[in-house]
Amino acid sequence: MSHKVLVVEDEPALARALAINLRSHGWEVVTAADGRSGLDAAATTHPDVVLLDLGLPDLDGTEVISGLRGWTSVPIVVLSARQHGEDKVEALDLGADDYVTKPFAMNELMARLRAAVRRAEEVAPTVSTVQVGGLLIDLARKRVARDGTDVRLTPTEWAFLELLARNLGRLVPREQVLREVWGPGYEHEGHYLRVYAAQLRRKLEDNPAHPRHLVTTSGLGYTLEP
Ligand code: CA
Repeated sequence: MSHKVLVVEDEPALARALAINLRSHGWEVVTAADGRSGLDAAATTHPDVVLLDLGLPDLDGTEVISGLRGWTSVPIVVLSARQHGEDKVEALDLGADDYVTKPFAMNELMARLRAAVRRAEEVAPTVSTVQVGGLLIDLARKRVARDGTDVRLTPTEWAFLELLARNLGRLVPREQVLREVWGPGYEHEGHYLRVYAAQLRRKLEDNPAHPRHLVTTSGLGYTLEP
């Protein structure tokens, strides 16, 4: 079955080129030329992944990310001409899953989209649940509850937490987290780890500034402490 990608891009030539390439690689493609129609299209067409240009004529791309994250955990891959690190971190911080800077190689973009969809769809594992303090992590159903209340995680946040939960009490090296959560070639993208560890702590820890469970060992990696 083919996957559906929503392309939110205001440059007609690029939008057309993306649509042609994606369709030739078996994707079903929906396009939107500005932020508002992108948000509408996400709600009505239920894409498997959103490819989002940050520079749009009506809304800023970051507003589109926030708008989507208000109700969906669909993977978001951001596409932008901006070179500044802050924009990258801001997009990730708001809940984007990955980031591709223009100009990009089409095959790299395809690989990023496939990886984003795969992370969101990983098949149910056999080990069932992990209890960590007030957190109940259900590996089969891909859910986490904090003190009995479901916590909504993005696919990337979930992938990070799941990896740590499967290695409960053991230090997982930074490079392993980057490789397993984001994919080969990400081993030096340490800022992803800081952003996502902070997001997870905000959602899961009683005192995110002094985490009890999601513990960083500086320069080495992360441990989920029971
Ligand atoms: Ca643009």
